[in-house]
Amino acid sequence: MALEMRTFGDPVLKTRAAPVEDFDESLERLAEEMLATMREQEGVGLAANQVGRLKRILVAALEDEEYVLVNPVIEEVAQTEEIAPEGCLSIPGIQVEVERPTAITVSGQNTSGEPVRIEAEGLLARIFQHEVDHLDGVLILDRTDRASRKAAMREWRERLLAQQG
Ligand code: ZN
Repeated sequence: MALEMRTFGDPVLKTRAAPVEDFDESLERLAEEMLATMREQEGVGLAANQVGRLKRILVAALEDEEYVLVNPVIEEVAQTEEIAPEGCLSIPGIQVEVERPTAITVSGQNTSGEPVRIEAEGLLARIFQHEVDHLDGVLILDRTDRASRKAAMREWRERLLAQQG
């Protein structure tokens, strides 16, 4: 079952999620529901904050592969960075340029509590960094330059007004 998406302005998106300590059935269910929500939204990643749960769990999808990562930590980052447009399911319709390392190593656990380590580059590396940011209460608007942020905020407000009208 898909969960309700939280969108920009909801304080849960600006709040740091807490580490997962219980690897129980409810964690397994949350992971399944997050995957279902990501598929329904046609997204490439989702963090628990975005469905209103302040737990350190993310899901990601690229090509035919799906990932679930609990308590993710970015261990290593490449020296090279790249600027690319990024969107966010919690700020629908908005894209801003975000500079990030082109490759990372991320570690964490699966839903059974077993250690997981993933080396990612390109889009997958970007997705993991975006979702770990969410777990720290950080959004793409916090990662872009001031002018882009202002333009994105203006566009967001206009969208809200258009929806109300
Ligand atoms: Zn996002």
